[in-house]
Amino acid sequence: MQSDKSVTLIGAGLVGSLLSIYLARRGHKVEIYERRSDMRNGRVAGGRSINLAISTRGLSALNEVQLKDKVMKICLPMKGRMVHSLNGVTALQPYSTEGECINSVSRLELNKLLMTEAEEKYGVKIHFDRPLTDLNLDTMTTNFNTTSDVFIGTDGSASVVRESIIKKTGGTLSSEELSYAYKELIIPAGPSGEFLMEPQALHIWPRGNFMLIALPNLDKSFTATLFLSQDHFKKLNSPQELRLFFKDYFPDALNMLPHLDSEFFEHPTGHMVTIKAGPWSYQDKALILGDAAHAIVPFFGQGMNCGFEDCRILDQILEKQGSFEDFFNARKENADAIADLAQENFIEMRDKVADGEFLFQKAIEKILAKNFPQDYISRYQLVSFSNIPYKAAQKIGLIEDGILKVLAQGLKKPEDVDVKKAKDLIEKNLRPELSKYIHRKNELWI
Ligand code: FAD
Repeated sequence: MQSDKSVTLIGAGLVGSLLSIYLARRGHKVEIYERRSDMRNGRVAGGRSINLAISTRGLSALNEVQLKDKVMKICLPMKGRMVHSLNGVTALQPYSTEGECINSVSRLELNKLLMTEAEEKYGVKIHFDRPLTDLNLDTMTTNFNTTSDVFIGTDGSASVVRESIIKKTGGTLSSEELSYAYKELIIPAGPSGEFLMEPQALHIWPRGNFMLIALPNLDKSFTATLFLSQDHFKKLNSPQELRLFFKDYFPDALNMLPHLDSEFFEHPTGHMVTIKAGPWSYQDKALILGDAAHAIVPFFGQGMNCGFEDCRILDQILEKQGSFEDFFNARKENADAIADLAQENFIEMRDKVADGEFLFQKAIEKILAKNFPQDYISRYQLVSFSNIPYKAAQKIGLIEDGILKVLAQGLKKPEDVDVKKAKDLIEKNLRPELSKYIHRKNELWI
């Protein structure tokens, strides 16, 4: 895409705002049309999660445009999952043997920072209160009578740009709504303005078919999110039912939720969808990325990270004079892989983190990571703390599952694991795959 081409983005969410910076840096004249009002004026329409986990992929993309340090200042590190048992006992499951963290960040503050940076530093023009309802790819015009050389849809999971591309190209769309929904609740700071739980952790109350999670905020509160089947949500239709449910399943959390009733019945119930679509582009005139191209369920904390990675990879492809189709070819299998991993991780979070066999295998995994730090890097670490393609992380994760299963057979205690056998399995099965992507482990980290 030549730099004299004008580019119009639809959607000034997280991905659109970051992409505008990347494109403006390449010399394009960039405008964004956003359906909502300017969130920096305090009029924020209710939307998705209050805070998000940002990890290496997201930070790598921010680093390229010199924004990582600025964003890290509004982040809180989370070292691992703090699992809350029914009896109130908590146990930390670190994400990494080497102290790597994922980071909790406010969606609103991050979006505001990116929009302000785009406008003030890169001259991007954002038009608010302008919903796209129609994009004609023959005339390259929209319902707001603008024209542009290129339209890029960063308009989220219900993308209008995607609709136009699919119509024009005869492409396909699969939209799968999860039978689970979510509700956000606030655990405020304590009486002296302190965190009521360990701040450097992502808290989880796994309860088999459902779960509660909580991420820390800079004001010392936590945002808790209840994930529950849509049918179960319908049954919690009175404050009495609701309190009974929390008393039975989340008694320690109940004590920290002073406004449970009003929040539960007033906050919107969120729905989650997996979008798989193709193609993502029409000639060199229109493209979609971020959730518009590949919305995923939130259980690996990767939707935004994947969208930010899209921006970095698109920039690399444009640098080499590549096309929008090259971008699709490079990203599609990776987007599909993280979509599948995110669905699998839901089961891990709500159920397996409290399961004996899973914990046994995790304990063996920890020993392997300690003994073979260059050769055994867990699937979670590859997804969250590296930039290797998601598809490769998925494949390597399956090999690791196989190794752990073999090593766990007949074992009474994880520490009795046969390290010699582990070494053989790793050298034979894991190293050849991992070494395609990683020469020295530290190359992964930014
Ligand atoms: P969106 O955030 O949906 O932004 C789209 C923008 O386009 C919006 O501003 C919208 O107003 C605008 N728009 C839409 N339609 C139009 C139109 N027709 N005309 C003009 N403007 C339009 N990801 C992570 O990486 N880590 C996490 O921890 C995480 N947690 C999550 C928790 C929950 C509960 C959910 C639901 C998601 C979570 N995600 C997480 C995923 C993340 O929120 C999304 O992947 C990310 O917001 C995608 O950004 P986007 O800019 O592509 O789309």
